[in-house]
Amino acid sequence: MQTLRASKCGLSTAQLPPSILDVIDSLTKAGYEAYIVGGGVRDLMLGLNPKDYDAVTNATPSQIKEVFGRRCRIIGRRFELAHVYSGRELIEVATFRAPPKKAITSAQGMILRDNNWGTIEQDFSRRDFSINSMYYQPRKDEILDFCNAIDDIKSKTLRLLGDPTLRFEEDPVRMLRTLRFAAKLNFSIDPKIIKIFTHEMTDLLSDVSPHRLYDESQKLFTMGHLQRVMPMLIEFGIWKQLFTDITPEITPFMERVARNTDQRIQMGKTINPAFFYAVLLWNNFLARCDYYHEKGVVATEARAQAGLDVLKRQATRTIIPRFAETFIREVWEMQSRLLNPKPQQIEALSSHARFRAGFDFLLLREKSNDPSTHGMGAWWEAYQDMSVDEKERAISAYNRQRAKSRRKGSDAVVVEDPKAVTTQIEPLVKEQETRSRRSRNNKPTSRASSNDSRSRNDYKSPVKTGEINADHPITKRRRVQRDLSKVVFGPTQ
Ligand code: ATP
Ligand code: MG
Repeated sequence: MQTLRASKCGLSTAQLPPSILDVIDSLTKAGYEAYIVGGGVRDLMLGLNPKDYDAVTNATPSQIKEVFGRRCRIIGRRFELAHVYSGRELIEVATFRAPPKKAITSAQGMILRDNNWGTIEQDFSRRDFSINSMYYQPRKDEILDFCNAIDDIKSKTLRLLGDPTLRFEEDPVRMLRTLRFAAKLNFSIDPKIIKIFTHEMTDLLSDVSPHRLYDESQKLFTMGHLQRVMPMLIEFGIWKQLFTDITPEITPFMERVARNTDQRIQMGKTINPAFFYAVLLWNNFLARCDYYHEKGVVATEARAQAGLDVLKRQATRTIIPRFAETFIREVWEMQSRLLNPKPQQIEALSSHARFRAGFDFLLLREKSNDPSTHGMGAWWEAYQDMSVDEKERAISAYNRQRAKSRRKGSDAVVVEDPKAVTTQIEPLVKEQETRSRRSRNNKPTSRASSNDSRSRNDYKSPVKTGEINADHPITKRRRVQRDLSKVVFGPTQ
């Protein structure tokens, strides 16, 4: 073990938020040892901005509770931990852990219970990577380095502590962590890890709970290096463990959204990890919609059912929380509304709670050269910046094009550049409209609605034999116009 002078490694208490100093100081004052450990120390040493700080101590969870009283909650079963609230921040405080006892590991060697308290040396050897196992005592200006981790920091190498095979067997999630840290820090992976990173090894992930895998997938999506990690997930066989039904192939849409997500994170903007799930599962959703269309199910019903089916399948690998599932299905449902909106609903749609996400999704599809958006991404983009008058003109121009496309027998409206459209057409009368113009303006709307009923009839494709036959109630349901803001999605069962 070597003790490094923290200030010489570029660390100082001035960089630390008051919350973590409060936790360290309170535990020290109560007579316990306390350190900052893990990603916080690693990131500070690398000159990065840590996402959060974790603390570790020789106090047991109940002793931590005594120190912090009502500011502390003990959580977890497999790993018992204390959550300490300091101001508005939450700090995770763990107790030094000893190696697990044999009786609490599964047949495959996976650790099931892990509340065996120990010394700092034992705690160190339980950590995953050398770079994650440095202990920083800010008040003493000391970093305890048990394995020459500083060299791995300098050489940018990701090295597992102990025997890599055993460490992956103990906790297969470490495979995901390997790729996450390699991508996030741009570190190379120790050849000893690469050697054992086989398909048999990644198969162990099938024993990990879908809840835990969802948490890990979120960390992968939100670390700011999604673009870099995606090919790695495929190369190392992790992709098929996380997303069994999604072809291990990065589509231009995924690539584009990954780049966009990473850029947003780098700019400090928020991102919704469920959005990336919506992107990953988009082709599956479309394929499932086609499946129902072929069975003669009406389009709205087909989309609703396809959304449920796809998410239900994904839940066998990663359990997406209910609120996130609802978000994903709303984004998908929004696509057809934005693609072919009824002119009279355009303005209401643009202030819908899910408009922003649905529009971003549509625009990113378009920017990744998906021709099926028919230019509507750009149309909506321009629409949002228009004045009230410009909006009216854009809607009426859209309406005319819509009627024209329908006369040609196409359901999709191929919009020209909306800005160009508004400058080409006669401006609507800003003040009072004459009666004749009013009736002229109404015409396309009525034509559109008759077309609408035509397209509904066209939709009755011959029902093929299969799981859903012509008598199935789903095929008999009428298409009812729904206000998306009032749609309550049912359970995913
Ligand atoms: P991040 O920047 O993502 O927070 P981190 O290294 O802090 O990275 P956490 O998941 O917050 O990751 O875990 C904190 C520390 O706990 C890690 O640095 C590591 O020392 C230890 N740790 C976490 N998960 C594992 C694991 N599965 N096996 C062994 N040690 C782990
Ligand atoms: Mg952390």
